[in-house]
Amino acid sequence: MTDTLYSTDAYARSMSAQVVRTDSDDNRVLLDRTVFYPGGGGQPHDLGTLSIGDDRLTVVRVTSDRDGVWHWLEGSLPGEGSQVEGTIDWERRYALMRTHTAMHALCGVIWRRFGSPVTGGNMKPGEGRLDFDIPDWTADALPVVERELNEELARRRAVEVSFLPRNAADDDPSLIRTKVNLLPDFIQEVRVIDIVGLDRQADGGTHVGETGEVGSIVIPKAESKGRGFRRIRVRLEEGE
Ligand SMILES: [Zn+2]
Repeated sequence: MTDTLYSTDAYARSMSAQVVRTDSDDNRVLLDRTVFYPGGGGQPHDLGTLSIGDDRLTVVRVTSDRDGVWHWLEGSLPGEGSQVEGTIDWERRYALMRTHTAMHALCGVIWRRFGSPVTGGNMKPGEGRLDFDIPDWTADALPVVERELNEELARRRAVEVSFLPRNAADDDPSLIRTKVNLLPDFIQEVRVIDIVGLDRQADGGTHVGETGEVGSIVIPKAESKGRGFRRIRVRLEEGE
């Protein structure tokens, strides 16, 4: 398995690593450690480069399976045992960390006001959407939710990462909020993201250290997608 440095330090932008395995069919390498997030929970995978000496290879895709984290490359594959230097596209990743944290904060605000669980979601840098089952939603709720979300972010709440044994997490259904977060059987430890005092859920993604880093957000719209089903969009304000 790959040592996933992003799990414990979302701010790590680069790493030295060794190529553990190569796969010429898909032009990808498995590394012993990485800062590249492989995607999941609605957060897209990272982009960046792997350097071997003077050669710089572009990482076009990152995935994970039971063997570890695979880095899909453009250009010729380095050999097994090679030492590589990996660097992620930090501007893009940091925007995703801020966006992802805003979405968890939105989950907390919606839960507190409506008691509604999130049913799905997706994001790109600076913008995301979450689906909720909110039978009580009315049009005038939108500015209220937007204001509460901005107030919560401005409280600079700490965002803490911890790890629970799988069986303890399975005993706490409130942690597993969405179908997209359903955990594969081989995961023995569950990572928990806690926006202290606002929202706590199982999550593999990368988030900022405190909510003030998100800056302020705009909720441009909440679409109705059928009875109770609301799709709420969130956008980061430019310049924080
Ligand atoms: Zn998440």
